[in-house]
Amino acid sequence: MLEKVVIANRGEIALRILRACRELGIATVAVHSEADRDLKHVRLADESACIGPAASADSYLNVPAIISAAEVCDAVAIHPGYGFLSENADFAERVESSGFRFIGPRPDTIRLMGDKITAIEAMKKAGVPTVPGSDGPLDDDKERTLRLGREIGYPVIVKAAGGGGGRGMRVVHSEAALLNAIGLTKAEAGAAFGNDTVYMEKFLENPRHVEFQVLADEHGNAIHLAERDCSMQRRHQKVVEEAPAPGISEELRAKMGERCAEACRQIGYRGAGTFEFLYENGEFYFIEMNTRVQVEHPVTEMITGVDIVKEQLLIAGGEALSYTQDDIRVRGHAIECRINAEDPQNFMPSPGDISALHVPGGPGVRVDTHIYDGYRVPPYYDSMIGKLITHGENRDVAITRMRGALSETVIGGIKTNIPLQADIMADAAFAAGGVNIHYLEKKLGL
Ligand code: ADP
Repeated sequence: MLEKVVIANRGEIALRILRACRELGIATVAVHSEADRDLKHVRLADESACIGPAASADSYLNVPAIISAAEVCDAVAIHPGYGFLSENADFAERVESSGFRFIGPRPDTIRLMGDKITAIEAMKKAGVPTVPGSDGPLDDDKERTLRLGREIGYPVIVKAAGGGGGRGMRVVHSEAALLNAIGLTKAEAGAAFGNDTVYMEKFLENPRHVEFQVLADEHGNAIHLAERDCSMQRRHQKVVEEAPAPGISEELRAKMGERCAEACRQIGYRGAGTFEFLYENGEFYFIEMNTRVQVEHPVTEMITGVDIVKEQLLIAGGEALSYTQDDIRVRGHAIECRINAEDPQNFMPSPGDISALHVPGGPGVRVDTHIYDGYRVPPYYDSMIGKLITHGENRDVAITRMRGALSETVIGGIKTNIPLQADIMADAAFAAGGVNIHYLEKKLGL
């Protein structure tokens, strides 16, 4: 068992990690920026250390400061949460070479999955279905590129191998536009990611986003925790997530889930991870793997009863998984609404003082948030201030509970996207289930 863990993150996920550590009797060190002294988990942690000024580049991305905090506090491991350094292979390597355990996969796994081309290759080898595409980087051979485009069939999407966060992609509708689009994407990718390698795949026009949660230990065990649907997106950012995904049969879940678990065994995966797929006409197409805990992990926890963050800590401590695949049952349905400090009309961030706070409750309601009455939402970071999660015996009950929970919630002093979430929960197509990734933007008139 790990004795002391550094929580190298902020906000709701830092608090989530702290709670899991407490349940396991693990001591905690909260490292925070100068702007985050008042974070709830900083007050609750056994120890805390300021690692730099407000700007993320100087604090939450400050590798030497985080590692020296771990040294000074005599910690044994570092939990990176999500975002920030969580998928940075160089950071994971520095952590481990400094003698600490990185709570996540081994650095070489992060590197393999961080390059989309090597990730797709590894997945193909493991029998995970991928999007038809160029099977590797595009080179200077124009004839070959044009032939590949014809074989894949238009529209295609040109993607940067090192891309992320929805950047470094370009949709191409005809052969005439292909070479120019590749040139532009290469130039952008070189400037943004320091890697101008690009590849091409079929552009799926109306897919859903369906992803599988996995857990794997160092002893060769890997299981899946079923899937989530995260199709309700704006600008490639998830707004609402749910589990399980509407309309996925138990057979398909078992088949796809096992493929993901098997891929974990093949690449020697360690920890929690997510296989992201586009899902169209009954087929799954792998797009990328996230090698960390995700914002939307609670919906999976609600339907399976597995505490994913506790499992991460146990795995990092060298223990075997607490569950076999047969232990995992899907019970009911769960929905998560991300609550952002932003204007619900124009999506502008709305930081500031929280002058009043009433949180919802009742059966099947979970609130994951770090905010409290009197807390000041700083302007320097992501606008997400919490997550409302509801669970019920079926999807209708989960939605009804979410409507109630949203209507009970009062966050005074700042603007939030609660009105938008209430609109989504009242939407007939959402209620029917299975909308595609373009639905929300169309609904918003974007
Ligand atoms: P990132 O790493 O930047 O998040 P992804 O590969 O996960 O990039 O893709 C982000 C989003 O871009 C997907 O959720 C989807 O909306 C869209 N996308 C990516 N590849 C395709 C594709 N082949 N067809 C259609 N949409 C795609």
